[in-house]
Amino acid sequence: MIYLDNAATTRIHQEVIDEMNRVLVEIYGNPNSLYYEQAVRARAIVEKARSEVASLVNVNPSGVIFTSGATEGNNMVLKGVLERTGKTHIITTEVEHSSVLETCNYLSRKGIRVSYLKVDKNGAINLDALESEITEDTALVSIMWANNETGIVNNIKTISEICERKKVLFHTDATQAIGKVLIDLSVLSKVDFITFSAHKFYGPKGVGAVIINHFNPLDMRIEPLIHGGDQENKLRGGTLPTHQIAGIGTAARICKGNLAKNIEILKLLEIQLIEKLRKTYGGNIEILNEHVLKVPGIVSVRFKGINNQVLLKSISDSICASSGSACSNSKPSHVYSAMGYELDSIKEIIRISLSPYDDYNKFDDFE
Ligand code: PMP
Repeated sequence: MIYLDNAATTRIHQEVIDEMNRVLVEIYGNPNSLYYEQAVRARAIVEKARSEVASLVNVNPSGVIFTSGATEGNNMVLKGVLERTGKTHIITTEVEHSSVLETCNYLSRKGIRVSYLKVDKNGAINLDALESEITEDTALVSIMWANNETGIVNNIKTISEICERKKVLFHTDATQAIGKVLIDLSVLSKVDFITFSAHKFYGPKGVGAVIINHFNPLDMRIEPLIHGGDQENKLRGGTLPTHQIAGIGTAARICKGNLAKNIEILKLLEIQLIEKLRKTYGGNIEILNEHVLKVPGIVSVRFKGINNQVLLKSISDSICASSGSACSNSKPSHVYSAMGYELDSIKEIIRISLSPYDDYNKFDDFE
């Protein structure tokens, strides 16, 4: 069995499991209780993890808000910024993850105007179009860092500078970028919010973070999604899941330590994979995202004349891959459709996504 669906989720790192187990068993206090040792130890675990997550993207730990994952984070930023600013316009792209698109859908039903930027054949947005869409009433621009189906990356630096010049807040869903590119928010100071999930970088499912760059409790530009208690600077209520948070912290520390090496491994694996696919299938396949700017480790292959669902099902005993997003797998890819592909060819595309921690034996199983 080879697992080639790491963009859907990753296998949790053993060190992360060990730390989560230890915390589950030994540190059962509520991190928001006071004075006694169990609570103090739980609080220390949470704050250590906050520093580890902050360090992964180079921000101040006070700007890290733990969530249940990127879906919650994206909901929180989009709804929270619109509500807090009182403005009525948001800009996003046609190729965002469903957690952004469905939230925009919801917001538009509530009377918010949503502009969806188009992408070209290479998945790139037009920066002039972005600039001209921004008006006095624009609360937020939300554009993903890397696409979950194609791996294509956006020019986050330039986009954030446009937003800064036009005085509008900028959010990027970095779920597919973490662990595959260097994210340094200290040099990208115009990025206001990023969101991600731990399970995409060898951490546990069900935990993630919203990062608020330049966090300032006196200038809160976001309304909580989950009202509750004092937790997370009053930005996200609910008892903190200490073991989950220990999990994301440990995963973030490992991710940061291995980042440069893992990027190189992913690039190499990708070359080997494409070579093997070409050798085995020749002209019967087409690699769709080879000559675009993208994160390493996500390869889109079109098997000409073969329906992707039939193919994935028939190989599922030995190879785990997918036709795109697991979160909206009931319909053909909206991403390739936005890039101008015909429905017939979209139904022949599969996504192969690699892990730097797996040994694929040069993909011999493909024969
Ligand atoms: N954004 C992107 C780009 C994703 O790939 C995913 C996960 N498929 C999400 C958001 C949502 O993450 P989660 O399901 O962990 O909430």
